[in-house]
Amino acid sequence: MRDLSSTSGVAALASSPAATELLQLRTKLAHALQTSLDSNTIIRLFFEHAQPLIGFNGLRYCASTAGSEQPLQLGRQATHQCHYTMRLADHRLGELTFYRRQRFSESEQQTLETLLASLAFPLRNAQQYQEALQLALIDPLTRVGNRTALDNALERERQLLMRKGEPFALILIDIDHFKQINDQHGHRRGDKVIRVVADTIDHVSRGTDMTFRYGGEEFALLLSGTGAAGALITAERLRSAVEALHITHDEAIIRPTISLGISACLDAKETAGALIDRADRALYRAKKSGRNRSSCEPPVPELARLVHSDTQQRL
Ligand code: GH3
Ligand code: MG
Ligand code: MG
Repeated sequence: MRDLSSTSGVAALASSPAATELLQLRTKLAHALQTSLDSNTIIRLFFEHAQPLIGFNGLRYCASTAGSEQPLQLGRQATHQCHYTMRLADHRLGELTFYRRQRFSESEQQTLETLLASLAFPLRNAQQYQEALQLALIDPLTRVGNRTALDNALERERQLLMRKGEPFALILIDIDHFKQINDQHGHRRGDKVIRVVADTIDHVSRGTDMTFRYGGEEFALLLSGTGAAGALITAERLRSAVEALHITHDEAIIRPTISLGISACLDAKETAGALIDRADRALYRAKKSGRNRSSCEPPVPELARLVHSDTQQRL
């Protein structure tokens, strides 16, 4: 196992008997690796270009040690392995294992390391690009998805409904009298309330439900494979969980409540905007009728009358 921080590999090039061939391959490889900002595509390109020269049988790439990501496996595993931990300065690029039926000779390992030097910068750029994309979808205060992420997720759910007929529901959630919380306790404590409510929504909902910050003190919860009745049960669970909170900050204890508006999507032709409008109307009704409550648009009993009996089973 080797820890491979990026090196130029010039020494290996100068003394190699197949110097010209290696130099040409390295140039070709460098060009190819610049064509993508996707880590897995970059590794695949590396494999395709280096494979004819080294003749390995397989490669395994694992971007993180935390095991949160599925490793990339190309070709087949075999008895002999060459393992590298890739690093560029302080940036950890991942673990690479090359497999072969025959033992790797010292000069083959040198050649491989020369080629690996071309991989470091493209891989670092791809990882930083992916991180930037992820950050662009996250709300910095609460760490839940932002409005762009919600738009993307709504479109994904609409596609699922179109292809597989799976319904989904949207719950818009608004903290009650939040302006008073800010006025009474200050903006910093107000921020803490927003964070704790976001955490509560995220923890109380199911793993397949997705939480987003929709605006200042407003959130959206997207429920996959759920109809209006199921969403109403979830909404009430969230409402009770927030009602039970005692948020302490310095000496103060803040007890927020939320109002919730629900719309279930059973027709993929309905636009995301129309679905949000319906949830907004339901939220407005929940506010008007006293706050700290959930409401559905159309109201659930009315909805149950409208839909066909076999659809009702999915509600
Ligand atoms: P309602 O029950 O009708 O929803 O009343 P409300 O006071 O919650 O609603 P309103 O829209 O009047 O006030 C929302 C307040 O949320 C006003 C705004 O200053 C505050 N706010 C918006 N974003 C943030 C934020 O990021 N942090 C803090 N602390 N306050 C915020
Ligand atoms: Mg509001
Ligand atoms: Mg509010």
